[in-house]
Amino acid sequence: MKKISNRFDPQFDDADADHGAGVVLLAGGAGFIGSNLSRRLLDAGWQVICIDNLETGRQENIAELLPNENYRFFLHDIIQPFSLGGRVDRIYNLACPASPPKYQKNPVHTFLTSVIGSLNLLELAESKSARVLQCSTSEVYGDPDISPQNESYRGLVSTVGPRACYDEGKRAAETLFHEMHGATGIDIRIARIFNTYGPRMDPEDGRVVSNFIVQALKGEELTIYGTGEQTRSFCYIDDLLNGLISLMESETCGVDPINLGNQGEFTINELAGLVSEMIPTAKGVVHHDLPQDDPRQRRPDITRAKMLLGWEPKVPLRDGLVPTIEYFKSEIAQAQGQRP
Ligand code: NAD
Ligand code: UDP
Repeated sequence: MKKISNRFDPQFDDADADHGAGVVLLAGGAGFIGSNLSRRLLDAGWQVICIDNLETGRQENIAELLPNENYRFFLHDIIQPFSLGGRVDRIYNLACPASPPKYQKNPVHTFLTSVIGSLNLLELAESKSARVLQCSTSEVYGDPDISPQNESYRGLVSTVGPRACYDEGKRAAETLFHEMHGATGIDIRIARIFNTYGPRMDPEDGRVVSNFIVQALKGEELTIYGTGEQTRSFCYIDDLLNGLISLMESETCGVDPINLGNQGEFTINELAGLVSEMIPTAKGVVHHDLPQDDPRQRRPDITRAKMLLGWEPKVPLRDGLVPTIEYFKSEIAQAQGQRP
């Protein structure tokens, strides 16, 4: 793989150039969601600027984007101050590791990414008069005692548990977005994203969909944490991208948080059963301890998204798993030096 060079050039100023649909900045654009969103926005005529420290983002995700003349990549940690010359119309903040084992590796950095990193992006948005969207999470609801979760539910979150660096960082970021909007009038959006899966996930990511598919393809046992009776709602990436872009471009949705997720709710045992049925090389299951503070249930109430954005997911879990499994097959074959 060709090494990415750091093309960070904060002085560039292309204000007079032709910008197509406009200029969009993606912080965390080399990750799973960010790289899929980059492709989608480039196809729609946007100029895309990506800022990423490659902590969990992958060169593989952006290799096909780098040669595009409308794409610029800056290797940079958003906790560190930065400025950009030229025009910026939209900012999506996707920067933050999203998989529990990854965000728990350096919890202070995870927390500061959501807080200091968000502040840096908000200040940039203010200076550019850009609209800025925060990728928040269903984790702001913690281990919810109601189901489904709507946006007015305040959550059940530990301030000091192993997930707190992520959950509380995202909660603090929502507060920062809200208060900066109040103080400066900048145009904000907040998406509370529920578990999303699809191509460009890191096979080593550690989340349940990627773990199960990779284990099944390698003929290994699927690792179920706890009893497997905890639930999640899984949204296919294409549906999520439609929701994120609709939210960003809506002129009437207001600035309050909006849930984006698929309402289909599955136990982890059901997911293991489905993956095993679709990948016959799976070798049964093995149970591991349930991680501390693992949420027991999660299912979005998307009434607001339906009403304000006219958005709802279209791809059922079984259908979304088909291209996802094909993608992981190809990733594994490449890692083993074979053709898919
Ligand atoms: P990911 O880990 O694949 O992508 C995160 C990206 O942010 C990576 O490219 C990483 O290198 C980058 N990053 C992390 N810290 C950074 C920093 N300090 N400076 C610059 N770049 C940094 O995760 P994802 O699944 O693509 O998630 C993207 C966003 O969506 C995250 O903010 C996550 O919290 C949110 N989200 C995702 C899900 C999901 O199911 N995928 C659910 C809820 C919320
Ligand atoms: N999980 C599991 N096996 C795995 C990885 C995760 O049983 O190999 C469980 C995990 O304990 C949780 C659910 O699957 O209950 C979803 O985990 P994930 O890390 O994908 O996302 P999150 O917990 O952040 O929703």
